[in-house]
Amino acid sequence: MVTRNVNFNPGPAALPLEVLKTVQQELLDFQGTGISILESSHRSKEFEAVNDQTIALVREVLGLGADYHVLFLGGGASTQFAMVPMNFVGDGQTAAYVDTGEFAFKAMKECQNIAKVHVAFSSKEEKYRRVPAMSEIKYPQDAAYLHICSNNTIEGTQFQEFPKTGKVPLIADVSSDIASRRVDYKQFALFYAGAQKNLGPAGITLVAMRDEFLATAKKGLPTIFSYKTHTDSKSLYNTPPVFGVYIMKLVLEWIKGKGGLAGIEKMNEAKKNLLYGAIDAAPDFYKGAADKACRSWMNVTMRLPTEELEAKFVSEAKKQGLLGLKGHRSVGGIRFSIYNAVSLEDIQKTVAFMAAFRKSA
Ligand SMILES: *Cc1c(COP(=O)(O)O)cnc(C)c1O
Repeated sequence: MVTRNVNFNPGPAALPLEVLKTVQQELLDFQGTGISILESSHRSKEFEAVNDQTIALVREVLGLGADYHVLFLGGGASTQFAMVPMNFVGDGQTAAYVDTGEFAFKAMKECQNIAKVHVAFSSKEEKYRRVPAMSEIKYPQDAAYLHICSNNTIEGTQFQEFPKTGKVPLIADVSSDIASRRVDYKQFALFYAGAQKNLGPAGITLVAMRDEFLATAKKGLPTIFSYKTHTDSKSLYNTPPVFGVYIMKLVLEWIKGKGGLAGIEKMNEAKKNLLYGAIDAAPDFYKGAADKACRSWMNVTMRLPTEELEAKFVSEAKKQGLLGLKGHRSVGGIRFSIYNAVSLEDIQKTVAFMAAFRKSA
């Protein structure tokens, strides 16, 4: 018997047990080929079928039409920080960025290496405790695009609505909340997500973009950094992250089995209500780190009265099989990353631990 702990790691993060079991079962002989998917050519008909099915599942689960290209790229979300401005900021143009956390800031800094940036909003001076009200986001109407980070993984804040940008294309880094609840993904001209939080293993990044937006992309870039290279070849220009595509397919099938985004949303809503409820029930001891109106459903951040108590909380939790609760090194505190694969039962165990810890402290 294998003992499975509760995994609150921020990324790479928990994967559904059912998915891991299927991977284990199919690992030595992938669908009668007598070899592993890890050993298969990305040009084989077996892998091409996996690739096609995964593209179709992304469209189905996220509600995208055939007018969206779906790409599986290497290099993490961080590579997209560079590829987006390389491809979409024309000469003399400015790109607008909403700065709501460390990753949003990194994306903006990367654009500054390539093009002119307009800061449409920043909560940096407020220690990134919040995301803006829609009326606070200001940008020129001729901006190449407006870039946002939908969920701030480190700080634990999340957009509850998205700016209506009219003819300015809206681009989103959705790495840490993709497929976690119902969102109209068609409002984004382009969105991207490193898979290691909600979609699969590290090493694969999902990028989707509207075809008419792609048509505006710059020409003459190095081949590998041009989106057109990848949309023309279904991400098979060079060797794609084959294993990651395969696991993403299994995760998307698992999401479908849970009732799609509507089913997943119900579960995630119950999870975050239970956990924030436990924090708010003991305001003298547990303090939510993010502004209440901006609280993330995926990364729940809190502080305890002292850093010593926080360290003790993390180590005592670990003894109970609750792993990965230390806040990001840049902000400290406690962070529960409660992505899709973390269950309601896991959270029930956690709130029981929180009540007992508080009593004993
Ligand atoms: C994790 C994360 C990233 C960085 O992803 P890499 O795959 O490590 O490059 C970027 N943005 C957000 C919102 C993230 O959560």
